[in-house]
Amino acid sequence: MNPFEGLEFWFITGSQHLYGEETLKQVAADSEKIVNFFNQSGQLPVKVVIKPVLTTPDAIYQLCLDANSSKNCAGLLTWMHTFSPAKMWIAGLKALTKPFVDLHTQTNRDIPWADIDMDFMNLNQTAHGGREFGYIGARMRLEHKVIVGYWQDQDFLEELNTWMRAAAAWFDLQGAKVARFGDNMREVAVTEGDKVAAQIRWGYSVNGYGVGDLVKYVNAVSDAAIDKIIGEYYDTYTVSPSLLAGGQYYSSLRSSARIELGMRAFLEEGGFKAFTTTFEDLNGLDQLPGLAVQRLMADGYGFGAEGDWKTAALVHAMKVMATGLKGGTSFMEDYTYHMQPSGMKVLGAHMLEVCASIASSKPSLEIHPLSIGDKADPVRLVFNVPSGAGLNASVIDMGNRFRMIVNTVDVVNPDAPLPKLPVARVVWVPRPNLKIGAGAWILAGGAHHTGFSMALNQQHMRDFAEIAGVEFVLIDENARIDEIKKELRWNEAYYGLSKGFLA
Ligand code: MN
Repeated sequence: MNPFEGLEFWFITGSQHLYGEETLKQVAADSEKIVNFFNQSGQLPVKVVIKPVLTTPDAIYQLCLDANSSKNCAGLLTWMHTFSPAKMWIAGLKALTKPFVDLHTQTNRDIPWADIDMDFMNLNQTAHGGREFGYIGARMRLEHKVIVGYWQDQDFLEELNTWMRAAAAWFDLQGAKVARFGDNMREVAVTEGDKVAAQIRWGYSVNGYGVGDLVKYVNAVSDAAIDKIIGEYYDTYTVSPSLLAGGQYYSSLRSSARIELGMRAFLEEGGFKAFTTTFEDLNGLDQLPGLAVQRLMADGYGFGAEGDWKTAALVHAMKVMATGLKGGTSFMEDYTYHMQPSGMKVLGAHMLEVCASIASSKPSLEIHPLSIGDKADPVRLVFNVPSGAGLNASVIDMGNRFRMIVNTVDVVNPDAPLPKLPVARVVWVPRPNLKIGAGAWILAGGAHHTGFSMALNQQHMRDFAEIAGVEFVLIDENARIDEIKKELRWNEAYYGLSKGFLA
């Protein structure tokens, strides 16, 4: 399912009556030209819908109310073609609950030096109309995005594409449901947090279910359904001989398939978009769900292990943002280090639950013992991940707010094959290097669990955090420990002082 399908962004052009009918007709025609170009460019992930030119406070207010109540509108693209006195925008912007981006652009790319006259000047006023609109955004302390440039330029379209993805993921997250099978891994701190604050701030709800509730669904799965999905496994993966029919562990594979189908039914029936498990609470399941979680993640479900609902919701939102982009997105954990001075790096993995959307080639379906959890050997997909740019993102609960931390990374090939490590694994070098990247991450309180993506860049995550009104800490190639420390201290003051950020 494509989460962008049916969504819309509304194109809102601001003006006023002062210019007369003829000018307003031209403004409307120019807006239409831009919207048609956007929709035909094939470079934006979501459809843009044009709305009539806005010239009065009442019309602006009504439009914002309509956007709020629309089931399809994920946000507004505003454009001040002419000057639109911004006091007219106060009531509407005060009511608006959808994110908006101001397109600071103009119909013409170049000044027609030989022909320009005062009529032209009065029609093409983004340069000061956009500033008037910007003032009211700043005055009202409204979080929003501004994109400056010519609307046909590649970089302009890319910036808009990025923001649209973030806004669409935000839209998707509102009212989303996260299911927790069991509670938190005992005594773990970073995976805890305030679920009420999360619902107020992020829009998703988190509720717990006894593993017994899931087991009912697992036990209800038919043999025919298991046969069918095992056929799908055989078609999709390279399968260990012991998991083939008649093989030593064929019954374990059937049991794993049963868990997948039961989980899937539970999540579908409840309309959940993300879920967590914990290996400390598997009563009634004979193995830790490995393959099941991997396959559900590949279908767009967010996942967090050990009860980590913040990461589960984050992984789902990242998957929505990444819809249609090259490269995958998965739940991830910083597992162990290579500290060789000339090339320090991280080996990322989890016990089992890494999404095959990041695999470099056909995953291999295998079964191996798990030294933790005291259950039967779990079935899992094993694979490597291609080299390239990626990022890790973490959301933590700071008590008075949420903080998102993003570290850009370079995925590299393992120095040698890993024949005795039968899990999905990724090797990366954090930017700017392990010393600063890990140091800054730890000072910021970033979790060991992350949403890992090779499809998204830091700008997707920043736009998303800004729409959410959440603190955003970036650790990239320019990161310095002393600067990050200062930023964290300043953010502490900012979020302590500003009202409305307490959730
Ligand atoms: Mn973990």
